[in-house]
Amino acid sequence: MRKQMFKGALVCCVLALTTVPLWAQGGPRQGMCLLATEPAQALEPAEARELAYIREEEKLAMDFNAAMQAKWGLRVFDNISLSEKRHFAAMKLLLDRYNLPDPVQERPAGTFSDPGLQTMYGDLMNQGEQSLESALRAAATIEDFTIHNLDKAIAATDKSDLKMIYGNLRTGSTNHMRALVRQLQRTGQSYSPQYVSPAVFSEIVNDARGPRGRGTGAGYGSGRGGGRGRGGAWGNSRF
Ligand code: ZN
Ligand code: ZN
Repeated sequence: MRKQMFKGALVCCVLALTTVPLWAQGGPRQGMCLLATEPAQALEPAEARELAYIREEEKLAMDFNAAMQAKWGLRVFDNISLSEKRHFAAMKLLLDRYNLPDPVQERPAGTFSDPGLQTMYGDLMNQGEQSLESALRAAATIEDFTIHNLDKAIAATDKSDLKMIYGNLRTGSTNHMRALVRQLQRTGQSYSPQYVSPAVFSEIVNDARGPRGRGTGAGYGSGRGGGRGRGGAWGNSRF
């Protein structure tokens, strides 16, 4: 029990580092630290699969943005990659909390156990090598894909700790999406969503409040249904 609470506290600290600006840490941090006192309940198999999948999805975002930073030297890629590294670490703490195996193990950058994510990474790297605009668009596609999957994961679980962490990851993703869209706009380009609905996309890019202190997980994804379709090119259905 003591060990479990310690892990909960660690998750809390990672999330505080991940999504809460220093100036806002007074209030939201208290809410997030509720996690430290919540017992870890047994997960449904679908929830466990989702957790492992999102761990790898965060790795994909981290590896891709690091590769694009090396290729193009644009700061936005570096900032996003660092943020993804924290999301990736938060997912490992959740896996540990539920005693689930880590799909990543010692896998090097750019390699994944999920075949759909492996194909997606290859496709996006090809895009990202073509031009800076194409790289920004590919990075935005990852956020689009991630937000869509997080919305489904939030709707498909009743575990408050999962909802809380997914909600915080989602807040990070929406911040990244806005930064990438701003960069594209500077060169007269735009981004059209491929996974989230136009309404959700417009809500994200038009949110002028800037980075928020904590995720609002439970409120997102209502009516979107649970489960993951397998129809899409990378193993995920579009809606
Ligand atoms: Zn992320
Ligand atoms: Zn991101």
